[in-house]
Formats: sequence, structure tokens, C-alpha cells
Amino acid sequence: MQLEILTDDELNARICADYWRQTEEGEFALKIREIATAHGMKPHVVSKFVERHAFVWREDICCGRCKQPYRFGTRSQYQERRWFQNRICKACIDAERQAIADEKRGLILKMRQSAENNTPDPATLDLTSKIYLLAAIQALGDEQFTTIEPLDDYPTCTLSPDSVYDHKVLRHLIDNHLLLICLGTRLEAVELHEDDRFSVDLGECAFNLALDADHVTALVNEFFDEEIIQGVRQAPEFVALCKEVQLNECLGFLKTILEDHQLYLSPGEKTRQVISQCLEKFSVAQVYNFIWRATKDAAAYYMRSSISKRQAANSVVGNISRNMERAVANDWDVKPFHRNYNLPQSSLSRIIFNMVLGTDDGGFECPLHELIKQENPLSV
Ligand SMILES: [Zn+2]
Repeated sequence: MQLEILTDDELNARICADYWRQTEEGEFALKIREIATAHGMKPHVVSKFVERHAFVWREDICCGRCKQPYRFGTRSQYQERRWFQNRICKACIDAERQAIADEKRGLILKMRQSAENNTPDPATLDLTSKIYLLAAIQALGDEQFTTIEPLDDYPTCTLSPDSVYDHKVLRHLIDNHLLLICLGTRLEAVELHEDDRFSVDLGECAFNLALDADHVTALVNEFFDEEIIQGVRQAPEFVALCKEVQLNECLGFLKTILEDHQLYLSPGEKTRQVISQCLEKFSVAQVYNFIWRATKDAAAYYMRSSISKRQAANSVVGNISRNMERAVANDWDVKPFHRNYNLPQSSLSRIIFNMVLGTDDGGFECPLHELIKQENPLSV
């Protein structure tokens, strides 16, 4: 044990030396009471006094990284010393934290710069990018048309009808260099992995718009120009977007209803296909009915049979498909549902179905073939 005295005062130094003196067996030579009596002090102040004027250290009790020995100010700290063996010291932890923060800041800067160097020409933007951008601005944008706030700061269905779709929209805009990650993005949004890989949680990121405010204003104005809008309605790309939004409307509802019944299913290609088939004939409001009934049946099936929750969840898609076939074959009048309180109309849906198609949430109420037929008599 090495003693370091921090005072020039001889008397104080002697008190410290008495406090820390050990016998050959490694016991403390003097009791606290004896030190107090010898120096005319109250026993309970001795340790505090010594702590201010000295510390001890040992070579074998040091930080596992920088090998700096730990310092002990009192006997009780010293007696706990084995807990410190090879523990990483605060300075090393702080340095490591700083290095991680610097690395993340560097990655954010690099992402931003590479997007800045590839800003697209507003004149050549495709329709999907325009509509996604408009939805992002409307849902998450600030008043100045400069910043897109983090998706996770908003309730569900703010941007699009489904959380997976939200991320797809943001990813599309990033890949097309329309969104620049904000340098002030929370560092928790970036996760570092082994082998220099990293991932970014898009929901946590704030963005700036790559296009300047004038271009953004011009883009917004396009959607108020009846002639341009007329052209948009005819575009196959637009019809595909309508289908995608309606599909995601149903997927969002399916996930919510499954959760209500404590069943879990990650909808894949099969589910998408079945629901898309339903949407060829029925409105989203009617497909909600199929989904609700199919999930209720699956939950009942789970309750009365010895099947697993997974099997029950997997039966939902088959149920939807069968119910739809029956409804079509028997020409049933399928009762439309109302919107779920927790799944309000999203920005993306409003732009497509209200702004462009001029309906009041028609994407929910009407089958797509009715909406598009109205718009495009040539396709009859
Ligand atoms: Zn250290």
C-alpha cells in the first residue's frame, strides 16, 4: 500500500500517517479512537479529515484499461478495494463515450454530405417521390419548409397508415437524396455494430429538405393546379400508389386487431396478396370487416382448441381469403366499418384521396375501381 500525503502541514501529515499505518500482518496499527485521542480530535471526524489530506493506492488495484491505480481516501473504501480490481475507471468510460459520440457524429456528417452532393433536379422528380415528400412535409414538417421532425415524436398514422410503411416512405426520400439527416439528430438514433457497420433508426432522425424553399413551394403548388392534377390521376404510377396506401391501411388495421386479441403475425407476401385481392372488389372499410371477423374467428379457434397462438394467427389470412370468396360468390352486401379511433387518416392518404382525387377519405370508403373509373372513363 502506497501513501500519498497532500498537505505540507506536518501535524496534519502525521495524523494521516497514523491513520494509514499498518502492522506487518496488514492490520491497521491504530484504532480511530486512539488517533482521535492522540491528536485531540473527535473520533467521527478523523476519517473525513484524513480523506481531505491523503490517499492510498496499490499497484494491483487499478483500472483494467489505463492501468491507473485507484485512490482510496478512507479505510472503509480501502477495505472494499477488491471490487475495484480491473474495473474500468470513470476517465476511461468518459473517453470511450466521447469516442462513440464522435464516431456517430462523423457518420451523420458523412451521410449528410453524400446526400448533399447528389441533390436531385426538381424538374426530374418522379410522382412517387413528389407525393411522399409532400406527405412528409405535411405530416412532420415545420412552418418554414426546412425541417422534418422525428417520426417517433408523432402519433401513429401521422405520415402513412402503417409504421412499416412510414419507414419505407422515409427510406425512399433518403435514397433519392431528398432528405438530409440533421446534424443535430439524437446520437441514440445511430447504433454502431461490429466490423465498422452501423444502423440508423429513421424514426429517431430529424431531416432537412434537400430542395430549397422555392422549389418546395413550387412542388406544393403543383398539387393545386387542376391541369397537372388531371394528369396525375391518369398515371399508372399514381394508381399503384393508391393501391399501396389502401393495402397498408388494411395491414395497419390487421396488426392492431391481432394485437387486441394478443395474436402476432408479421404480414408477408401471402397476406399482402390476399388483401390486395380483396381490395380489387371491396373498399378498405369493407376489408376491415373481413379482417375483424377473421381475427375474431382465429381467436375463438385458439380458445377452444389446443392449437398454438402462432397457428391461430396463421389461420387469419386463410379466413380472410375464404370470407371474401364467399362474399363474392353469394353476392353478399359486406357491411363497411368505420375508421378505427387509433388509426386516423394519414397525410399520405389525404394527399392521394382528398387532394388529388377530390374525395372525403374516399380511399377508405370506396373501392379503388370506383374512384379511378370516375376519373378515367376511357378505361371502362
Ligand atoms: Zn482507466
